Amino acid sequence: MLKKNNKTDVIVVGAGPAGISCAITLAREGKEVVLIERGMFAGSKNVFGGAIYTQPTKEIFPNFESEAPIERRNIEHKFMILGEKDSTTISYRKNDNVSYSVIRAKFDRWAAEEAKKAGVILVEQTVVRSIIKNGTTVVGVKTELEEYYADIVILADGVNSLLAKQLKLRKNIEPKDVALSVKEVIKLDKNIINQRFNVKDNEGAIGEIFGGPMLGILGLGFMYTNSDSITIGLGVSLNDLIENNYRPYEILEKLKEHPTIAPLIEGGTLQEYSAHLIPEGGYKKVPKLCDNGVMIVGDAGMLVNNLHWEGTNLAMISGKLAGETAIDALNKGDYSRKMLSNYENALSDSFIMKDLRTYKDLMDVAHQRQKAFLSYYLKKVNSFFEMFTSVNSVPKKENYHNFIKSILKDRKISELFKDIWAVIRLLWSILV
Ligand SMILES: Cc1cc2nc3c(=O)[nH]c(=O)nc-3n(C[C@H](O)[C@H](O)[C@H](O)COP(=O)(O)OP(=O)(O)OC[C@H]3O[C@@H](n4cnc5c(N)ncnc54)[C@H](O)[C@@H]3O)c2cc1C
Repeated sequence: MLKKNNKTDVIVVGAGPAGISCAITLAREGKEVVLIERGMFAGSKNVFGGAIYTQPTKEIFPNFESEAPIERRNIEHKFMILGEKDSTTISYRKNDNVSYSVIRAKFDRWAAEEAKKAGVILVEQTVVRSIIKNGTTVVGVKTELEEYYADIVILADGVNSLLAKQLKLRKNIEPKDVALSVKEVIKLDKNIINQRFNVKDNEGAIGEIFGGPMLGILGLGFMYTNSDSITIGLGVSLNDLIENNYRPYEILEKLKEHPTIAPLIEGGTLQEYSAHLIPEGGYKKVPKLCDNGVMIVGDAGMLVNNLHWEGTNLAMISGKLAGETAIDALNKGDYSRKMLSNYENALSDSFIMKDLRTYKDLMDVAHQRQKAFLSYYLKKVNSFFEMFTSVNSVPKKENYHNFIKSILKDRKISELFKDIWAVIRLLWSILV
């Protein structure tokens, strides 16, 4: 029951990592928060790879490593470049606890219970249909059955955020600014996973997959080990899917058949199939994140670092920063855009906007030089290692010369200059 009839301090829409982190931050400071989730329970609608990252997760849930439902502690990160039949893998292994694989239906549900313990009022199986405004100020939300009022409304409703669109804070997403991701969870005996990924019980590995059936497409594959299952999937630019009439599940089927991938999942049984959008617009597509009485957090604000597969950490920390701004606003009784823009300032000072700014040109370069970097050079990495490892009584120097000649033959000098220029431009924007 709310303190003041149907009015509360803050309404948060969406119980994903962003919404839960925001709500718990407010409740811990004694503010009254209603967290509304459309799913049967928090996490029931949520799709991800995936890994959560220890340091940011601990900022919200200090004891999560010992208390949350965790699958495996990731000790290895593989970067796999697939050719048509061959592959090159670079692998970084360290026995540390930078990230954990989790199943969102379990993790989010646990996190929402933590929020309830902190005093958050969780309302599940309820869809927020629209926003209630008084003049230019957001003052509440309408669900199918009820109207809830609040001093501040926080939108944590994920990548589609129909509510941010209703408020005209966001435009419709363009196909080039999102990836469509499909993934399967494949059940496998725990000991087989340990053997195939060279890990012990509770240790896990992450695979980032380039090329293979995604050669030439703006797409990236992923693989995560869970306790007794493997998640495999890929995200492909929606633009590429539409333009080329590709079907993502067909690309995933081909990925699973690749000679490097197939032995890792052999004998497993399909447990779950799901699809979801991932924001890919980056820095240039982050919308206005606040207005009178309202703030936007997580995927709803396009806060995803797609190169690093980081989304949950940006969601949690943006939720926390919005929560802190809301606490300040509630204490001062000021819910104006000017007051709430402190949230945007805090984001700008944090790793979130700094990282998005670092990669602001990445997607433009990727779109412009897609065929070169996502097809030709990926193949060349594999053909270099094929040449390097082959034993054929041809003098090594001749092999090297032939390799270089093949590049000069395949690529016009003008194209080579464009490729080099794109790399310089990208490095410049990242490092300077
Ligand atoms: C395939 C895939 C793999 C990924 N892998 C990783 C990874 O390994 N690591 C990582 O950090 N990130 C990963 N991400 C990104 C990460 O999942 C997201 O960035 C993160 O979930 C965003 O959190 P959020 O709370 O903003 O949104 P969401 O998690 O999408 O939560 C939004 C919530 O709002 C609810 N909702 C929506 N509309 C309404 C409404 N009108 N009324 C009530 N409730 C509503 C939804 O049901 C949902 O629970 C991946 C994403 C995908 C798709």
